[in-house]
Amino acid sequence: MPLQVVRPKILGFISEEVSAWLVALLVLLAGGILTGLLAWSTFNVNQQQLRQRFQLLAGERYSRIEERFQDQEQRLDGLRRFFVNSDLVSRQDFDGYAKPLLRRTQAYAWAPLVSLAQRPAFEQSVRDQGLSGFSIRQLASSGQMEPAGVREEYVPVLYSQTQSSLGSPLGYDLLAQPQRRITLERARELDGLAVSPPVHLVAVDPAYARGVLLAAPVRRSASNAAARPEGYVLAVISLRQLVADGLPVPASDNLSVRILDLSSEGQHEVLYESNNPPISSPLIASRLLRLADRDYQVDIRPSAAFVHANHSSLSSLVVLGGLLSVLLSALLYVLVSQRQRALALVEQQTEELRSREHELRGTHSQLRSVLNAATQVAIIATDLRGVISTFNAGAEQMLGYSSSEAVGHLTLESLHLPSELEPWAHSLSQRYGKPIPMSQAMLVEAGMAGGHEAREWTLVRQDGSHLQVNMLATPVLDDQGLWIGHLAICIDITERKRVHEALAARDRLLKRLSAHVPGGIYQFKLDAEGHASFTYASDGIREIYEIEPQQLQENAAPAFERIHPEDVRRVRASIQASAEQLSPWREEFRVCLPQRGLRWMRGAATPERLPGGGVLWHGYISDISDLKRVEEELRALSVTDSLTGIHNRRYFQEQLQSEMQRLERGGGKMAVIMLDIDHFKRVNDLHGHGVGDQVLKGLCERTARRLRRTDVFCRLGGEEFMVLCPDTDGQQALILAEELWQGLRSSPIEPVGIVTASFGIASWREGEGADGLLLRADSGVYAAKQAGRDRVQAELP
Ligand code: GH3
Ligand code: MG
Ligand code: MG
Repeated sequence: MPLQVVRPKILGFISEEVSAWLVALLVLLAGGILTGLLAWSTFNVNQQQLRQRFQLLAGERYSRIEERFQDQEQRLDGLRRFFVNSDLVSRQDFDGYAKPLLRRTQAYAWAPLVSLAQRPAFEQSVRDQGLSGFSIRQLASSGQMEPAGVREEYVPVLYSQTQSSLGSPLGYDLLAQPQRRITLERARELDGLAVSPPVHLVAVDPAYARGVLLAAPVRRSASNAAARPEGYVLAVISLRQLVADGLPVPASDNLSVRILDLSSEGQHEVLYESNNPPISSPLIASRLLRLADRDYQVDIRPSAAFVHANHSSLSSLVVLGGLLSVLLSALLYVLVSQRQRALALVEQQTEELRSREHELRGTHSQLRSVLNAATQVAIIATDLRGVISTFNAGAEQMLGYSSSEAVGHLTLESLHLPSELEPWAHSLSQRYGKPIPMSQAMLVEAGMAGGHEAREWTLVRQDGSHLQVNMLATPVLDDQGLWIGHLAICIDITERKRVHEALAARDRLLKRLSAHVPGGIYQFKLDAEGHASFTYASDGIREIYEIEPQQLQENAAPAFERIHPEDVRRVRASIQASAEQLSPWREEFRVCLPQRGLRWMRGAATPERLPGGGVLWHGYISDISDLKRVEEELRALSVTDSLTGIHNRRYFQEQLQSEMQRLERGGGKMAVIMLDIDHFKRVNDLHGHGVGDQVLKGLCERTARRLRRTDVFCRLGGEEFMVLCPDTDGQQALILAEELWQGLRSSPIEPVGIVTASFGIASWREGEGADGLLLRADSGVYAAKQAGRDRVQAELP
């Protein structure tokens, strides 16, 4: 399946091809705009809050000022009524009343109206009350007090309560100064409170000297409003004190207050201005305030402290927003560029995958061709459930199903004989201790063992006939080693089975035959390199060598190890000779067996040359130990004298013959001693034939005792004996003969007594035959007889 080209979009809408820089820039721009909008709306909200806050503060400040102004009016009116209601107000009364009122007021004063005529008496009476230097005064242009000029009326300050450390300006005529006079006149006209324009207050600390006078006329006869008042009560008000008292220090005052006097037409004098300057701001609260008969404009503006206290977080918002935008764009840059890198990698890998897929497809079609070319082999692949996924031409041919009928429709199980699968599944379940389904039975062995195992199964063809196969089931693993299915390779073994069975039958026949034949039959091979093996050995061979036949199939060496050391060389030589000449091999040899000991074997085989060099024998080996024993017994009998048990004439002849041959080949020495019992006939005659036989036996015993092992002692017949002495010259033979002679005649043989014999000697002479030698020995005996018997005749010339 070709891989789809997927072009995903970053965050769902940004095309992946857009440069990371562009994305970052766009995000930065969007972040900037968003931050701007946010800042703008925050600014608006701030402005509104600022306005509300300012309005609140300004309203509160205005109310406070208004309240203080009204308070001033009320207190002065109170003082006025105090005067109106009292017949006589002494200085002490005044002080007692006015002193508690001195709050945010520089001074309270009582100034009676005095006519020119009353002036001297008035001044005198005041002086009499204790104020010695008292006179009605006015302020000279030099700034000093001087006696008031001549005027129709005076309103001198008589009582005064002041906060000022400069004391009270007692005697100061209020009418002497035009602004004060106008104020008093207005108060008299209004018959109520009148306030002066801003004036320079007399006897007040210079810091508070700018202020107003609040005056009210005191009339005792209330009915006559036009009547001349008795005097005036006055409140000296420093506006600075009135407005600023109790406020925060200018540096932390949020508001800057300015009070304008609106009474004087044309120019509005500034009556009061806060020490802290206003800042330029659209925020301003301007209200009218009325004190007594005058209007004032109160302008309230925010001060630097207000701005400071209501500092907007706009800049930090902008900085934060900007920072966030930069961060976000940086993040997005990283994200997009990383994603682009990843996508590039994916694309590269997709390309690689595509080329690999191409290769794979090529390989796959090659594989398919190979699978289908293998027509003698059924190749069946299944998935994990056992459903067939590959069914090659060989499988089609063997089982009769077409590939399209089998793939995806049949399972491996459905091709099996249930009667074969079921017991196998059962035995597997028991072996592995868990239930193994029939569908897995033909596979599980391979899976469990981690390898593969070939097993014979009977498969069912489409036509229902049976097919014997050898099935090799292997697990199919993917690149990661995960089990993805199975591969079963089946070979039709019907013919093989038939041949196998025929061979087995012949094998059985051979086995039976060989079992009934004594000995073992074999096939012995000597290859070109000289390696020997029994390619076939019947069970009988086990008896022969006491070795398992199978053990000899590879190597015949163990069999050769069993052969007697004296025989093995001969056996090998005869085999070699048979191989070289292709002549029948025949050998008798001894074997030394662990259980049965020494045994004689006889082997016979016919060789044939093998094509690649080497020789193959077909042969037979049998145990001839019994035969050999009989043979040996017979042989022993044939060379033994039955009466005496020593060797007989035949044996002597044989030995003499071989000794002579040896001497003729290699030279050397040899002698014979011949002896004949003296007058033996008499023994028989005197004692009987039986005693004669005993004498013969006794002589043999005595003589044999004295002989060497190499000497051959024989009875030639009757009472004649011969000793064959190899490696012995005439002289040595003479000594031996004399020993024998002495030995015989020195010990009696009961019941006969001393038995004597006559001895003749002959030593071998080169070129002399056996007959000549024996004749000379015989001549020696004869000579001894002639000489009187019972003696040894030295060798005759
Ligand atoms: P000479 O001293 O001359 O040899 O006298 P001789 O009697 O020993 O010799 P002769 O040849 O005359 O006699 C041999 C006798 O030995 C005759 C025979 O009866 C006896 N003889 C031969 N064979 C046997 C045998 O096997 N047993 C017994 N008991 N006697 C035997
Ligand atoms: Mg004799
Ligand atoms: Mg004799």
